Amino acid sequence: MSVADVVKQDSRARDEEDGNIAPSTNYLVAACLVSVQVVVATMADETFYRILFVSLYALFFIVRGYYRFVKPKLAEPEKAEKERKPFGKAEAAISCVILGSFGSIILYLLDLPWFAWTQIPGYPETVRWVGVLVVLADIPLLAWIHRTLGKQYSPCLRIKESHSLITSGPYARVRHPMYTVLTGFSLGMSLVTANLLIICFAIMLIILFPFVARKEEQMLLQEFGDEYREYMKRTGRFFPKVSRNKKDESQEHSIGSE
Ligand code: SAH
Repeated sequence: MSVADVVKQDSRARDEEDGNIAPSTNYLVAACLVSVQVVVATMADETFYRILFVSLYALFFIVRGYYRFVKPKLAEPEKAEKERKPFGKAEAAISCVILGSFGSIILYLLDLPWFAWTQIPGYPETVRWVGVLVVLADIPLLAWIHRTLGKQYSPCLRIKESHSLITSGPYARVRHPMYTVLTGFSLGMSLVTANLLIICFAIMLIILFPFVARKEEQMLLQEFGDEYREYMKRTGRFFPKVSRNKKDESQEHSIGSE
């Protein structure tokens, strides 16, 4: 007989002796019910989602911060970088959308009464949790992408002195996996908030990614020429290429000839 069996037998014997099997079970059931009620009540409160939102952002910044600030410091000192390329016509729009997005996030977190109109009434809880799942799936993907891109990464469009073309890992089939993941992240986070303004800014940001990607491809084509042209033929822009269609081909030609 195992120790666990002895303990079980002993406590059952004591319970039977005291005649309190039913009451102790009742207490347990009551405690569970109260806990469930507390969790449900907290979940219905926007504060819970604000805390969840901040926690998810913190996870994102840990990964992003590590690859952007900590890892480069641990590596060899970076050689001088070539000049940053502007985002072109989308530059002002990108700055406005980023500012607007962060502004509305701060107002949402501050829970100001005059900002309450931006909360969507009757917003389904399941949509918030879909957002959470998308963000949680995105974070390890972001780490993988950063690891693969290594020192080639830059928050803006830039060719570094010893820049090499990355075509492995997530880059083997997709040219802009980071933008795909950031799209999922922005949308997922906005869905968690149920805030109309944050969702609108996330959509605007998503609309701008193709412009940035196009500009980036022009820059990489200038730098790597035929190597990048070949790479474009076998990869998709934001998702793996399933089949070559005429639209993709004509897009590649138009960028290649710019
Ligand atoms: N657009 C990519 C990378 C974003 S980081 C993505 O979404 O995954 C932006 C920098 O990455 C740019 O300055 C560019 O120089 C660099 N870059 C983009 N694709 C690259 C590749 N395949 N190989 C090397 N560097 C790349």
